[in-house]
Amino acid sequence: MSKPPPVYIVGAGPGDPDLLTVKAVRIIGEADVVVYDLLVSKPILDLIPAGSTRIFAGKAARNHHMPQEEINDLLVSLAKSGRRVVRLKGGDPFVFGRGSEEAQHLFDNGISFEVVPGITASQGCSCYAGIPLTHRGLAQGVHFVTGHCQAGRKLDLNWKNLADPDTTLVIYMGLTNVQTIQNELIAAGLPADTPAAAIRKGTLPDQQTVLTTLGDLADCVERAGLKSPTLFVIGRVVSLANELNWCHEPQECI
Ligand code: SAH
Repeated sequence: MSKPPPVYIVGAGPGDPDLLTVKAVRIIGEADVVVYDLLVSKPILDLIPAGSTRIFAGKAARNHHMPQEEINDLLVSLAKSGRRVVRLKGGDPFVFGRGSEEAQHLFDNGISFEVVPGITASQGCSCYAGIPLTHRGLAQGVHFVTGHCQAGRKLDLNWKNLADPDTTLVIYMGLTNVQTIQNELIAAGLPADTPAAAIRKGTLPDQQTVLTTLGDLADCVERAGLKSPTLFVIGRVVSLANELNWCHEPQECI
């Protein structure tokens, strides 16, 4: 009997289908079954061959469609059926994507896998908003953190470490805790007038970029009515968006 194909854990990028890797496009085009997440955009789903099975495993913060254990087991049983299985995930599978947990589960069950990187939201959103993540004289590095915590728990980040004016801070899944994020960063010493951006649906035609400051971030998010998926970029580099936005006009928060 021939060896079953590996499970492909594929990054779909932030939304714009043109940001898929060549490898991702090829593997999606050869899939028998695709298990995909909420954040995989419609034009990317349209690349799945017509005769292939699509399984939605989507997750929204408060609305878990399929528990992670179930997704893990599903991947194992699909792989054992000998079909070409693609696990398609928003952004990069190894950045806040639980792709590594799925890979561990496959490993534990003796199933081979390959991982295809994708453009992570922080790269896609900031690029399409005209915000460089680093820039000489403005930011020496970048922090990627999650602003999400389990329901009922306090967001527990190393605020002292994150409140560094020389480092850009990118926060995934921060909407629910935006007020805490703002307060804690200011309390830890990051100036309230540090430029900040909230970017919704980055790289898609309806991307929304709201430019503000750390001190007004929570208010702006509320006034602009931003919903998921939204990413926050905080740091001096955000000040360049007015010059470098090549894609669409940013919105000032008024
Ligand atoms: N693995 C993904 C991240 C999954 S966590 C990646 O590498 O990008 C989900 C969070 O990512 C969302 O809550 C949001 O903060 C961010 N995100 C993903 N896609 C986005 C997009 N197109 N626009 C804005 N934020 C996005």
